[in-house]
Amino acid sequence: MTQIDDLPPLREVIRKHGLTPKKSLGQNFLHDLNLTARIARAAEPLENITVVEIGPGPGGLTRALLSLGARRVIAVERDERALDALSEIAAHYPGRLDVVSGDALKIDVSEQLGPERARIVANLPYNIGTVLLIGWLTAEPWPPWYDSMVLMFQREVAERIVARVGDKGYGRLAVLAGWRTEAKILFDVAPTAFVPPPSVTSSVVRLVPRAEPLACDAIALQRVTEAAFGQRRKMLRQSLKSLGVDTGALLAGAGIEPTARAEEIDVAGFVTLARTYVRLRAGTSEGG
Ligand code: SAM
Repeated sequence: MTQIDDLPPLREVIRKHGLTPKKSLGQNFLHDLNLTARIARAAEPLENITVVEIGPGPGGLTRALLSLGARRVIAVERDERALDALSEIAAHYPGRLDVVSGDALKIDVSEQLGPERARIVANLPYNIGTVLLIGWLTAEPWPPWYDSMVLMFQREVAERIVARVGDKGYGRLAVLAGWRTEAKILFDVAPTAFVPPPSVTSSVVRLVPRAEPLACDAIALQRVTEAAFGQRRKMLRQSLKSLGVDTGALLAGAGIEPTARAEEIDVAGFVTLARTYVRLRAGTSEGG
């Protein structure tokens, strides 16, 4: 591929700004702009799109998104050492890159959006990737403020996101992701693509929100899946006790065998459980 822009190579940017990778910030930087362009292309078409990027670091993915035509990129970065490097990219693409300095776990980026369509694209810091994802999956109102997410995770986490009932990785993350989105692993990225190389392979995942997921309270679904998979080897009549409702009534109301285990219940089953849980908590026996 030809150069994506005439800014300096990433290796040079990292050296110039003293961006020695910090483990505490989950910093494994991509140095290859062909690869960052491949990730950005997975989020195409980008024209007229505002992209929210978490953790731009030295800006390899940011540059690819801008060069491929994103109208605006809002990039949230916690490491202040990266701000000068990102300013140089902002100057190269006037009016199209807004850098928000701070902790993505504490900032609600959606507040900075206008009526435009938004998309999340990120090579996430591995230590907060699933927390961020759960926040996006449980956003209200639904359909959410973003129209898709293209995210890089460790391969094992990616497998847990796309898993179906019966798969090894099936658990809480798969239920939440499968309930509200269609999720797919697009491609793997070898450890050698990063500096420093992580110990495991990474994968790029695309998640597209379902327009009409099964009606369910996101918090109730989180609680029920947390309890069920928190003790995944136990029967549900045991593992769901921590919910503080009559477990027999809960399982009977949801039409699930008390001896079933969490890993045998599909997304629709968990939705029914969550709805029954809400009903029991409210002390009624009406449909939900
Ligand atoms: N996007 C760059 C790339 O692909 O080379 C860097 C990706 S690196 C895996 C993760 C980035 O997230 C780092 O730049 C790190 O400083 C940043 N980061 C870590 N924790 C963060 C947080 N809580 N909020 C925002 N950014 C964070």
